[in-house]
Amino acid sequence: SEETLRNTEKLSMIGELAAGIAHEIRNPLTTIRGFVQLMNQNGKEPYYYTDTILDEIDRINFIVSELMIFAKPHQIQYNECNINNILTSVIKFLEPEANLKNVEIEYEFPIEDVIISGERNQLKQVLLNLLKNSIEAMPSGGKIYILLERTTQNIVITIKDEGIGMETEQIKKLGEPFFTTKQDGNGLGLMVSYKIIQNHKGSIHVNSNLNQGTTFTISFESPQKNKIVHES
Ligand code: ADP
Ligand code: MG
Repeated sequence: SEETLRNTEKLSMIGELAAGIAHEIRNPLTTIRGFVQLMNQNGKEPYYYTDTILDEIDRINFIVSELMIFAKPHQIQYNECNINNILTSVIKFLEPEANLKNVEIEYEFPIEDVIISGERNQLKQVLLNLLKNSIEAMPSGGKIYILLERTTQNIVITIKDEGIGMETEQIKKLGEPFFTTKQDGNGLGLMVSYKIIQNHKGSIHVNSNLNQGTTFTISFESPQKNKIVHES
């Protein structure tokens, strides 16, 4: 029956997801185990290994916290979030990395204090993921352009880069768990971002051309339609 089919589909999706998570967590665990073993075996001081071990622990921690978004979507505390403020802090955070890679972040916020009802850390996470992807899409530098607008119905954030862009086949796979084209990517960033946007009743669109660049557009309903719990 249709229901059985849907359950089978669900199970195979869970299987794929579990396999991906297991893989993502086992890799750093294997490294940690190897390094701890080495610590016991040769004469080097323990601190020789601690940086790598800490990096790998951070990686597991990052993956687990990304997945928490899926575990407890109902526990989100919605507050008034100032999007100008969130964007500014994410840009500030990424500027050193961008500078290092010859990427210039240009932004235009024609309206002050654009407010939506949401969870600040999650919204930050989305913008961080998208901007990081844009930086990573420009290995020899370039420009990222961020625009924040408000129409009568919506609040719209546009993030445009001049990076490597994507083919149609690649665009179709965006948001699938563990889809990555990067050597050290985990393919969780967009899946998590899409989920967060969905939780906020927003929408996200992508427009990309190979070797020309990519534009992500996020839009939220204007806040008068949403209930605001209290300010943060
Ligand atoms: P990761 O960054 O770990 O690969 P993401 O979920 O953030 O995982 O992105 C998935 C894939 O989508 C990337 O590996 C890349 O192929 C593609 N992608 C995302 N954003 C961009 C972008 N701005 N330009 C080009 N490709 C992108
Ligand atoms: Mg990413």
